Amino acid sequence: MLVKTAGLVLRETRIGEADKLLCILTATDGKITVKARGALRKGSRTGSATQLFAFSELTLFQGKSQYTLNEAAPVELFFSLRERVESMALAAYVCEVLEILSDADSGTEELLRLGLNTLYALSEQTAPEELIKAAFELRAAALAGYAPEVEGSCAACGAAEELYFSPAEGAVFCRLHLPGDRGVVCLRGGAADAMNYVLSCDARRLFSFRLGEKGMRALAAAAERYLVSSLGRGFRTLDYYHKLLSAEF
Ligand SMILES: [Zn+2]
Repeated sequence: MLVKTAGLVLRETRIGEADKLLCILTATDGKITVKARGALRKGSRTGSATQLFAFSELTLFQGKSQYTLNEAAPVELFFSLRERVESMALAAYVCEVLEILSDADSGTEELLRLGLNTLYALSEQTAPEELIKAAFELRAAALAGYAPEVEGSCAACGAAEELYFSPAEGAVFCRLHLPGDRGVVCLRGGAADAMNYVLSCDARRLFSFRLGEKGMRALAAAAERYLVSSLGRGFRTLDYYHKLLSAEF
C-alpha cells in the first residue's frame, strides 16, 4: 500500500553501499522508520530529501514490518545550518530530543511543528542560539507532559521575591523553601518570567523574547537541567555540543 505524508529526518543510518535507514517524524503517523534504497547513490533522486534535518514530502510503501521510500521531494532543507558547526551540533541535539519524546504515538503534530520552528530559528539565526535551545527544551518537555510549575511565585508559600527553580521538583521556590537538590538555579534577571512566557506563549512567538546575560544564563541552566532531569537521561548530542563550545576557548 502507498502512503503519502510529510516528515522531518531525525536520523540517518547507512546500510551497505547505497541504502539508508531513516528515522522520520511525521505529522500524521508519528515517528516511523523508513528504508531508502539507493539514496546514497550519486545523482539519486531522493538524495537531498532524505538527508539529516530535511523536511520532505514522502511517498512510502507500507510493508509488513517497515516503510520503504518510493518518492521524496524536499520542502525545507535548513541549508544554512550546515554553515556553522555549533548550529549543526545543536540541530542534532534537537533531533535526538524529538526522537526520544516522540516514542509515544500522541502529540507528534505539535512536536513536529516545534522541531521545524526550532530548526528554522537556528538556521536563520532569528534569536541567540542559547535562547533557542532553552525555549526548545522547556517547550519540548511541556509537550511531552512534563510541564514545570512556574507561576512566578514560590510553590510552598507564594512569595514572589528571590525565586529559585528546582529541576528535580519541576517547580519554583523562595529561598526559605528551597529543596536540597544540587541542580537548583537562582532565577535572576527575568528568568522566571521568561520560563513562564516560553511555557504559555503562542508557538509562533516562542523565540520572540530577549534576556540580559544573567537572565539568559539562568534560563539556559534551568531549561537544560529540567529536560535532562525529567527524562532521567543524558544525550550524546548534548555532550558533543558542550564539548564543542568549551573547545572554543
Ligand atoms: Zn516559599
